[in-house]
Amino acid sequence: MRYVSTRGGMAPQPFSETLLEGLAPDGGLAVPEEMPQVDAETLERWRALTYPQLAAEVLGLFATDIPREDLARMTDAAYAGFPDEVVPLRSIGGGITLVGLSEGPTLAFKDMAMQFLGQVLSYVLERKDQVLNIVGATSGDTGSAAEHALRGKDRVSVFMLSPQGRMSTFQRAQMYSLDDANVHNIAVEGVFDDCQNLVKRLSGDLDFKHAQHLGAVNSINLGRIAAQVVYYFWAWLRVTDAVEPEHREGFEVSFAVPSGNFGNILSGFFARSMGLPIRRLVLAANENNVLDEFFRTGIYRPRSAANTFATSSPSMDISKASNLERFIHALVGHSASDVVDAWAALDRDGFFDFSAEQPRFEAEFGIVSGTSTHADRLATIRSVHEESGELIDPHTADGVTVARQYVEQDVPMLVLETAKPQKFAETITEAIGVDLEYSPELQRMLDAPQHVTEMADDEQALRAFVAEHALH
Ligand SMILES: *Cc1c(COP(=O)(O)O)cnc(C)c1O
Repeated sequence: MRYVSTRGGMAPQPFSETLLEGLAPDGGLAVPEEMPQVDAETLERWRALTYPQLAAEVLGLFATDIPREDLARMTDAAYAGFPDEVVPLRSIGGGITLVGLSEGPTLAFKDMAMQFLGQVLSYVLERKDQVLNIVGATSGDTGSAAEHALRGKDRVSVFMLSPQGRMSTFQRAQMYSLDDANVHNIAVEGVFDDCQNLVKRLSGDLDFKHAQHLGAVNSINLGRIAAQVVYYFWAWLRVTDAVEPEHREGFEVSFAVPSGNFGNILSGFFARSMGLPIRRLVLAANENNVLDEFFRTGIYRPRSAANTFATSSPSMDISKASNLERFIHALVGHSASDVVDAWAALDRDGFFDFSAEQPRFEAEFGIVSGTSTHADRLATIRSVHEESGELIDPHTADGVTVARQYVEQDVPMLVLETAKPQKFAETITEAIGVDLEYSPELQRMLDAPQHVTEMADDEQALRAFVAEHALH
């Protein structure tokens, strides 16, 4: 299996090469030359596997340049700190089941991919005898998931920029309580976009980038997309465990996905393209609903940072959806020139228009969408709690809100639980009027000493800091 750029300007390369790159050299995103296919017989063979075993099988279809036994060792290590099932499913009634993706160290779904990425990055760097210094900007979940996945690893260090005073107490504690020598927290005087711009300037300077071995683990990383495909297969297998064997083949389920950068749902789109019987992929947006607008109208119009709302599901507060380009690539039948044209129009006009193709979004690709607001989140958290006793976080609540609009008779609706409620305790209190309790372990993390370097929004200061602390 080899990977090409959505914009056509990259020689086909193996999985392990795409891991170390961000964008392809032509500005596009890496996609598989051909989507691997999984037939009904293979699905049945996978039924008896544990989550790490299944992950090795699914990832083996993408990472054909890595021996299967090495992948199996890495998936075992990646999910060792999770509960036994790794991804538990639980029904909340009304035809809806939650898929628990937030059992990892940072209580959010990004751990699912990042824990694997931490393993496979170390492995690939060892094999190539290289080091990598990850530089990233975070407004919360991505940074902590990356740090927890890479802490203490040889050959890789992390420089994570975060906006001073703009993260929740919980998010700060999750990142800044780490005291591993290869983890560098940098609190920048500014907002998230200032952090992002600093990162772009450093990695846009190719001399500096190469001299300092800079890399990224952002949401376009193909290793993350591939690792997320696994739980769509897992959830289908667990739901169909309860279906009579003769009715399992082709048994359809739908997934609802709280979405921001279009990474999580893109993995579902990959799973469906591989042959997993997925009826609908329901995209749930919050008030920053550029993607809902796109899937309803075919017109994609990213927002400016200034027009992006700060909401109570902050991990979905995006202005543009980095991974959408991979869907467009499929939509235009892999025509790189059509992808290039669309992004040229975006640069020129501020939008692109696929309204003529919009009916295909659902008919051919199964994707539908909806928007959920702060009031919806509160009402949904409350009603799920009353009806099932379960507490869900605000992002998952966006998923449930929109999923309820698309529930169909006899088609299980699986909502991806993208974070635990403890991470967003204030909104839970607002919804149900009760303060959440932290486990002793979480309380220890909140009380632990914090390690962070404060810095002005100053490129030179950042360069000096990175050059001094980077692995060489
Ligand atoms: C990152 C994140 C999302 C959005 O996922 P995308 O892959 O960016 O669409 C949703 N919920 C939570 C809690 C997240 O951390």
